Amino acid sequence: MQIVNGTPVFEGIAIGKIRYFSGGEYRMRQYLVSNVKKETLAFARARTMVRDELSHLCNSAGSRNPELGRSLQRQVALLDGESFASAVESLIVTQKISAAYAVALTRQDMNVTFHGLTDPVARARLRDVREVSDYLIESLGGVNERIDLGDEPVILAADSLDLPDLMEMDHDKILAVITRSGSEISHTAIITKTRGIPSMFGLSPCPEWDGVTAIVDSYSGVVYLSPDEEELKEYTLRKEEDERERNLLLRLREKEDRTLDGKKIELYANIGSLEDLGSVEYYGAGGIGLLRSEFQYLGRDSCPGENELFQAYRHVAQTMGEKPVYIRTADLGAEKQASYLRLDSESNPIMGNRGIRLSLAREEMFRAQLRAIYRASVYGNLALMYPMITSLEEIDEIEEQIRIVKEDLTKNNIPYLDIPTGIMIETPAAVIMASELASRVSFVSLGTNDLTQYTLAMDRQNPALRSRYDSHHPAVLRMIRMVIWAAHQQGKKVTICGELAADTALTAEFLRMGVDALSMVPASILPVRRQLRATDLSRI
Ligand code: PEP
Ligand code: MG
Repeated sequence: MQIVNGTPVFEGIAIGKIRYFSGGEYRMRQYLVSNVKKETLAFARARTMVRDELSHLCNSAGSRNPELGRSLQRQVALLDGESFASAVESLIVTQKISAAYAVALTRQDMNVTFHGLTDPVARARLRDVREVSDYLIESLGGVNERIDLGDEPVILAADSLDLPDLMEMDHDKILAVITRSGSEISHTAIITKTRGIPSMFGLSPCPEWDGVTAIVDSYSGVVYLSPDEEELKEYTLRKEEDERERNLLLRLREKEDRTLDGKKIELYANIGSLEDLGSVEYYGAGGIGLLRSEFQYLGRDSCPGENELFQAYRHVAQTMGEKPVYIRTADLGAEKQASYLRLDSESNPIMGNRGIRLSLAREEMFRAQLRAIYRASVYGNLALMYPMITSLEEIDEIEEQIRIVKEDLTKNNIPYLDIPTGIMIETPAAVIMASELASRVSFVSLGTNDLTQYTLAMDRQNPALRSRYDSHHPAVLRMIRMVIWAAHQQGKKVTICGELAADTALTAEFLRMGVDALSMVPASILPVRRQLRATDLSRI
């Protein structure tokens, strides 16, 4: 048994087999094709091209590097031979799939066949298949697939786990996530928390961990690799105990969010997709305080259209009924990238064309989202808010877009409601301008994740800054107090929707500051509710 330590992101216990995920894997989505002949020809062309390139490389570099030469010769032989090629061709023909996907499937089949063999010849052959497949897929223009984690749920181990990769995975198949790099408030962490997946970073997973049985205890930040019988028995019991405690907490589901001295505040859930809706109800949230709408734009090849967005918002609105749903318009850019957006590469994306700036630069895309939200507004209790606001001019520009959208809806007799609009306060500029900004909208919502990173000038995702990244920094807390005061002067309510809202060490302080609502990952609602119901503001 080996014991390794890491930093907890979301607490829980998981027992299972590790699946090591290397980010370099092709992420492929199955493409069905109508023209099988075209795909077969494309494969033949790619096969010849890759074969000629490898043969050329073998002639030029093989004599200087005999080992490389031998490997290239084997790869050329693999492409010349019939077995690999006919396996691919038969998949194209029988399953009517794209050439690239057929190569990927063949690669996967061979991986399964040769996996676990220790014979050096078999292992070299497996490596050849992988490399040749990669070249072929690349020359076929690549292909995407939902990342396949296998049939059984696994503990996902990776050096680092990017948001787009995580978005391509089936989260029901993930028992826990353990990585080397990471941060508690990265969007990857926010997703694992939202889905209630125990997670940790600061470990050093490697490919050898693949297939190994492990226990993840993210309460104490420990991972046991190949645990012995005794450890397994103990953790099976602990896991059951953990589930019992969670069930006890569930008794608070129906309880009111009121302090001992009678102050009422709202506890809302932060969600990123329709799949999270179940947990909003499960944990007894009073509404959705932050719908990170951009997640619907990620992990796909094309931008969602107005109707697709409308259907999603209508579904959320109808499911939540009278409970409020605050939809944040797409906060894309920075680490939330999608290839179809064709964003320019930026030297400093955290400070780049992101959030509302990107929406205002892509007017059509923005208006499609606004139209979808307004169309859905008649089905529930929706509110609209904008990310990464820095100025009053941005509000002017947004209002102009809303005016165009409403005018068009009216002209076409499409019903909509004049829903409340608000801003997220995530930049020091917005804090300073809180009073003027609040006077222009119906509510404000404090995004403390970004507010902290911009105030401290520290990237929220950079693990190297972890020891200095102080989310309780007095500057941040003072800013929160300033914003609450300024907004209340304008008669506007304030929500905190960054990760800090779930920090029970600050619940009493936020209440003293006068915050009106706290919005957090669904699984944090009950611990915060317990804390707030035990708080007596008249005594502190
Ligand atoms: C925030 O910045 O605090 C916030 C809620 O938005 P996100 O975490 O999605 O950037
Ligand atoms: Mg933010």
